[in-house]
Parts: sequence; C-alpha cells; structure tokens
Amino acid sequence: MKGKMKAMVFYEPLNMKYEEVDIPELGPDEVLIRIKACGICGSDIAYYWGMSPLETDDGKGPLVLGHECSGEIVELGELPKQLGIFKIGDRVAADPVQYCNACEICKKGEVNLCEEKAVSGVSVDGGFAEYMKTKYTSLFKLPDNVTYEQGAFLEPLADSVYAVKKLEVTLGDFCVVIGPGPIGLAQAQLIKASGAGTLVVVGTRDYRLDVAKNNGADHVFNIKDSTSKYYISDLTQKISELTDGKMADRVLVANGNPESMKIPFKISGRRSVIVFFGLPGADDMIEVPALDTIFWDKTIKFSWLAPLTYPKAINAIATKLIDVDALANQKFKLEELIPALEKVKDRVGNPLKALVVP
Ligand SMILES: [Zn+2]
Ligand SMILES: [Zn+2]
Repeated sequence: MKGKMKAMVFYEPLNMKYEEVDIPELGPDEVLIRIKACGICGSDIAYYWGMSPLETDDGKGPLVLGHECSGEIVELGELPKQLGIFKIGDRVAADPVQYCNACEICKKGEVNLCEEKAVSGVSVDGGFAEYMKTKYTSLFKLPDNVTYEQGAFLEPLADSVYAVKKLEVTLGDFCVVIGPGPIGLAQAQLIKASGAGTLVVVGTRDYRLDVAKNNGADHVFNIKDSTSKYYISDLTQKISELTDGKMADRVLVANGNPESMKIPFKISGRRSVIVFFGLPGADDMIEVPALDTIFWDKTIKFSWLAPLTYPKAINAIATKLIDVDALANQKFKLEELIPALEKVKDRVGNPLKALVVP
C-alpha cells in the first residue's frame, strides 16, 4: 500500500518525534496491519529514557517503538495471499517476536531463543504508528468476542502464560506473586485459574493491590508503605503464620527489582518452585542461600518471552477465564505518546496498562 502514515519515531533517548513517514513496503512473507491498539510497556520507558539500548544493529534509532499491538489486516504479501490463511479485514494480534521458523533453535521449539528473530518495536519498526508490517507467521486471529484492546494485552499475557506454566501450580497450592504491575496482576489471575488454593499478592502500591484483591487474590500485602491498610512489617512471618510454618509452594517474582528477587528464598517451602520473570538490570545478581535451597529441594526457574503460548492466552481471554479489561486503565492518542510515557513512569493517575489507540 503506497502512501504516508503518522508514526512516533524514536531517534535517541528523550528524542522521539511525531512524523509523517512512508507506509512500510511488504516483503513476500509479510502483512500490513492498521494498528487499533498498542500497549505501553516498561521496556518502552526504558528505551525512551536510555536505560536500555534497542536491539537494532547499533542499539540506536530511528525506530518506531511499541510491541504490544493488535489491528486489522489491510494488505497481504505474496505468500500469505497464496496460502489464504489470512484475508483483508481480519482482526489480529501480532506476536512481536518474529522468530525465523527455520533455524535449529526454532525447529527444537525453542522459538523464544531464536537468534535470527526480528522483534517489532525493539529491533524493527513497531506499533506506535498508524500501520505496522509483520511476518504473517507472527499473527493470531482474534475471536469475535475479543476486543482490539484485549488483543493488545496478548503479548504480556502470552509471556505470563509461559511463566505460570513453568510455575507448575498444582491443586490447592499456596502461591505468592511479588510485583503487582499489569503483568503480575494477569499472572495472579492465571495462577488462581490454574488451581491455586491460596493466592497472595505482594506489592508496594495499594491501588494495584486493590485490583489484585478484586481479581482473585485471597490476601494482599503492602511491604513498604506503613500507612497502607495492607501493610505488614514482616512478610516471612506472615507467610509462616498463613501456612502453619510450611511456607509457600509456588512463588513468582513479576518485577526485576533486586530487593524483590531476594524474597522468594525466605518465603518458599519444601519442594517449592520459584519463577523469576521481571527483568533486572544488566549487572544485577541473585544470591541464593545454597544449603537451605538444597535441603528443601527447591526448584528455581526463569521465564523469558512467550514460546508457543499465544493460543492459550487468547483462550484465557475469550473464555473469560481471566479479565484483562481491569488491567488496561489508561488510553492515549498516538501523538500523546511522550506525555503518556511520562505519566506511566511517574505513576500519574495510578496507571496499570496504558494503551495507545491511534
Ligand atoms: Zn512488553
Ligand atoms: Zn529461528
């Protein structure tokens, strides 16, 4: 499709411009979508303020950010046109991780680790624009009862499905989620839906803990703000009380804060599983109390991206197993992206997931 479109082009930290650029030209295996919604992620904030480099060849822009998108198909490349799997007008969500499907890593199913992958909004142009192109193999059709805004939440939700799968929740488990950002809150719902007996959500901001409480958490604890109605001064003690000294069966750390990453070792019990999901800084280390961890036969895991978990994430929304509408609580126009990033960063208006709706 020839023509111009509006896009937010990121050049370097603190330098992003609302510009008119060419609509992307399609390769044979690509599809053009008109963006209907694109979520703002913590990583977009990290790129904009220069806290982490892009994954382009030189780590720099110009690049259109935004990797949590849904939209409508407006043009098909040769291959998807021949195959007939997608048609113009289809409502879709795009997995930003466009793995190659051909390398040895992909063929083992470890597609999140593909080294030939392109990532929308991270290494190639993403969704903070009117249009975005992507490989047809990265697209998922949205069921009729899944909205575009819900579709924009599929990327973090698919990541969450993978993390919760690794957590191996079994019926009746005592589960703890640390870090109730939008992703942690989605993970908490998935954990409850997976059969958790008791679900505890631990955080530092009451407005987020309120959302957890309204969406399946049995207990919520604020471990920082002593004025909070949820405040407790000793989480380990509290978990011990609640479990009769047995401690938690499953602990998921949904943020990358080094202090948060110390907590699971103190509150997890025998044969427990700990999953680290949130992204720490490049130099952060996790210190493991080795002997205690061995004596209680604990398992420590990490979770990265969303290998082959989109269909389950779509089902979780379509069947109303979880509610993501409660998590997307702010909307902005495309040209408002910079103030939107500032508001999310400074937590103005108690943000959970903020969406750009062009
Ligand atoms: Zn993200
Ligand atoms: Zn590959």
